[in-house]
Amino acid sequence: MHELTVVSNIFKIILETAEKNNLSKISKITLKVGRQRHLAPDLMKFAFDSVSKNTIAYGASLDIERVDIQMKCRSCDIDFTVKNNTYLCIACGSANLETIAGKDLLIESIEGEV
Ligand SMILES: [Zn+2]
Repeated sequence: MHELTVVSNIFKIILETAEKNNLSKISKITLKVGRQRHLAPDLMKFAFDSVSKNTIAYGASLDIERVDIQMKCRSCDIDFTVKNNTYLCIACGSANLETIAGKDLLIESIEGEV
């Protein structure tokens, strides 16, 4: 399961961040997940429950915000949002595109008790 690997990696960063901030318990984590990452929120939550067992993050709520894929056309220079997995410029039809949003997985916030 792809999600388990991704969640395990990001979970290490979450715990390190919580430690640096002297949190004794994590109550809520918000992640921003680009749609280009092809991560299923349900599977991410399932993976989170499993990796957080016996840690200060167990039982925390996991909020996952999906970030739309935004592309910039290198031919005509416009920005657009990708829909239906169509990776072609909506203005000129070019496939010469650059991803400007939607490929990252970011920790937006970690909330907890000191
Ligand atoms: Zn274009």
